[in-house]
Amino acid sequence: MRGRHNSLQYLVNLATGCWEWNLVLSSGYGYVWHGGRLRKAAIIYWEKKNGPIPANKELDHVCHSSDLSCPGGVACRHRRCVNPDHLELVTHAENIHRSRGTKLTIEQVLEIRQSNKTQRSLARQFNVSNSNICRIKSGEAWKCLS
Ligand SMILES: [Zn+2]
Ligand SMILES: [Zn+2]
Repeated sequence: MRGRHNSLQYLVNLATGCWEWNLVLSSGYGYVWHGGRLRKAAIIYWEKKNGPIPANKELDHVCHSSDLSCPGGVACRHRRCVNPDHLELVTHAENIHRSRGTKLTIEQVLEIRQSNKTQRSLARQFNVSNSNICRIKSGEAWKCLS
């Protein structure tokens, strides 16, 4: 669902709360001219709210991590999100770990649904969080397979 215009730069997606960047996009990420160079729009919005990002940290899209049905990569609709409330500071290592952890195949999702193992051991086995397992089991995530 597309929301109302909040500014010229982005649209608020009323279903997800994402602020979807409308201007320059590269690999699915929103970019903006700032201080004479092209910077990630999400960083500008986050810094406006929270101050400069520490040198050893980067931003992770929480809206992406919690949406297990997202195909990821350039098809990801969350990359362009610039809502500072959807962004979280993480180390580079955490960011890599998370993006790997959220990539489940359809077969894995079906296996999780059919498994009698505890949430905890499934989370460990598939390298995702307990709450992700819970959302898959309840059908909240990957609704298309229900
Ligand atoms: Zn978002
Ligand atoms: Zn995504």
